[in-house]
Amino acid sequence: MELIIGAHVSYKKEEQLLGCVKEALSYGANTFMFYTGAPQNTMRTEIKEEKVKEAYALLKKENMQVKDIIIHAPYIINLANPKTAEFAVSFLKEEIKRVEKLGITKIVLHPGSHVGVTKEEGIQNIIRGLNQVIDRTTKVMICLETMAGKGTECGSTFEELKQIVDGVNYNEKVGVCLDTCHIHDAGYDLSNFDEILLHFDKIIGLSKLQCIHINDSKNERSSHKDRHENIGYGTIGFSNLLAIIYHSKLEGIPKILETPYVDKEFPPYKFEIEEIRAKTYNENLYEDIKSFYK
Ligand code: FE
Ligand code: FE
Ligand code: ZN
Repeated sequence: MELIIGAHVSYKKEEQLLGCVKEALSYGANTFMFYTGAPQNTMRTEIKEEKVKEAYALLKKENMQVKDIIIHAPYIINLANPKTAEFAVSFLKEEIKRVEKLGITKIVLHPGSHVGVTKEEGIQNIIRGLNQVIDRTTKVMICLETMAGKGTECGSTFEELKQIVDGVNYNEKVGVCLDTCHIHDAGYDLSNFDEILLHFDKIIGLSKLQCIHINDSKNERSSHKDRHENIGYGTIGFSNLLAIIYHSKLEGIPKILETPYVDKEFPPYKFEIEEIRAKTYNENLYEDIKSFYK
C-alpha cells in the first residue's frame, strides 16, 4: 500500500481548498491538513463553491483521496473549561457544517485544558460538549489528539482519551489522532513503538486511530513541553520516526508533518517528505531547504 504522507498547509482567503491542494503538491505530498482560517482565532470566511470544484478536479487529477484530508480545529477551542465550553460547542457546530460542505470527513481536535477545574471535571466537560456537538446526523469524525500534558491539558494518556470516547453517545464518530511529539513529551517511549501500539489497542482499540502527526521533539521524554522539531533533528530521532511511519499496522492512516519552518520562513516539508520516502536521513536538511527557497 502506498504511504499516505502530507503536511500542515495554509488555507488562504482567495484560493481556499484549491490553494491547500497546490501547496501540498509542491511538497510532493499525497494528503494534507489545514485550519479553515487562522489556527489561533475563530474568524472564518464563506466557502467559495467554485474553488471547491476546482480543488476536487485537481485532487482527482493527482490521485489524492478526499478521505485522507484532515482539518484541524483552532487550538483556542476549549471544551474542558466551563467558561469557554459554550463558545467551543457553537464554534464546533459551525465548523462541522463547513467541513461537511468541503466534503472532508476528519476533524482533529485538542480535547481541552481544565483551567480552573479539576482534570476529572475537565474531562466531564469535554464529554458534555462533544455530546452537544455530535448527533445521529453527524457525518464527520472528530479525532481527539493525544496531548503532551502541557499545563492543564486533558488527553495526555490513552486512558483519558478512552474515558472521553466512552462518554460520547455517538462515539462511532469519535476517533484519535496520535501525535508523536506529544506522546513522547507525555512520557511514552517511542523507541518501543510496538509496545505503545499494543497498549493503544488494548485501551482504545486500533480502529480508532485515524490520523498520525509526525513530529520530532525539542525536549526530553516526559518534559510535557510540546515543542516540535524537524524530522531526525530532535530527541525522538529519524529511525524511531521512520519505524512509526512505515509500521505495518498503520498502513493507510494519513501521516501529517507539523514540523517547524526553517528560520521561521521556509517550509521544511518537501525535504522531510523526500527523506522519509528515501528512508535516508538528510544531514544537510537546513541547508537544502534554505538554498531551495532563497
Ligand atoms: Fe494539534
Ligand atoms: Fe499535532
Ligand atoms: Zn504540538
